[in-house]
Amino acid sequence: MAVILDGKAFAAIVKEKTKDEVARLGLTPSLAVVIVGDDPASRVYVNGKKKDCAECGIRSEEFTLAADVGQEKLLSLVEELNNRDDINGILVQLPLPKGYDEQAVIAAINPNKDVDAFHMENIGRIMDGNFTFAPCTPYGVMRLLEHHGIDPAGKHCVVVGRSNIVGKPMAMLMLHKHATVSIAHSRTPDLGAMTRQADILVAAVGKPNLITADMVKPGAVVIDVAINRGDDGKLCGDVDYAPVAEVASYITPVPGGVGPMTRAILMENTVIAAKKAAGKF
Ligand code: NDP
Repeated sequence: MAVILDGKAFAAIVKEKTKDEVARLGLTPSLAVVIVGDDPASRVYVNGKKKDCAECGIRSEEFTLAADVGQEKLLSLVEELNNRDDINGILVQLPLPKGYDEQAVIAAINPNKDVDAFHMENIGRIMDGNFTFAPCTPYGVMRLLEHHGIDPAGKHCVVVGRSNIVGKPMAMLMLHKHATVSIAHSRTPDLGAMTRQADILVAAVGKPNLITADMVKPGAVVIDVAINRGDDGKLCGDVDYAPVAEVASYITPVPGGVGPMTRAILMENTVIAAKKAAGKF
């Protein structure tokens, strides 16, 4: 039976340390959270991030815009936040409603305030390995592995999913830690043949039960990044959890695995942004 990689418990430790650092620095880091429209999932995420900020001694300021506010007004808000000295981090909750150019919005954020690390400049630094802002979800995974003494060096890591925010940066961070990395996606012909090779399997797709027990090598470490709503209305990942837990050596639960780690790294990034602004980084 696999050991559970308890992201919720470790994220609480990371946030506690972040709170201590904030107190020690004597700074009040600040995060602007921009939400466009009233998507219920986005609202849950934004509320969660505001709660994390409060726990860590970070000031959060929410900007709620109507779904039809338009690209131009959104961009001018980003510009205003870029220019405000009392705002260290800017987070625009994605996905934006239909009709918005997300890439243009991300590109408009000052890279020094881009605590999600989505801006091209920060993505380039992630490729290079010498980054200031970590990609929150992939780095959360790496920290959770490290906390449990799991070293990717020399292992075969298979990442399922190739998005710019999860799959690709995940593969890069694994590569920086000397894993041999494969990336699978919707055009991978025989997904099971690929995933069965994985010592570390990262699922980041968004399809419940995509990864079944027969697709997992016995003893593999299984990381489930996805957050889906199952037919029963409950949160679930991409991994058929109970049968896979019988085969794997370690596994992340959903909820309580990668999600809380993502949020904890966002808090760390916001403190880094504040330190940079104060010349303390
Ligand atoms: P995207 O939809 O951007 O990417 C999904 C990826 O999965 C694509 O690369 C796609 O391939 C691939 N894919 C789709 N179907 C299959 C298939 N049948 N077999 C193999 N690969 C497939 O999603 P994100 O990367 O943004 O998010 C992935 C999941 O992670 C979602 O459930 C999301 O909610 C969750 N998430 C969780 C976070 C957390 O904190 N835990 C943070 C961010 C996301 P192709 O490129 O060919 O289309």
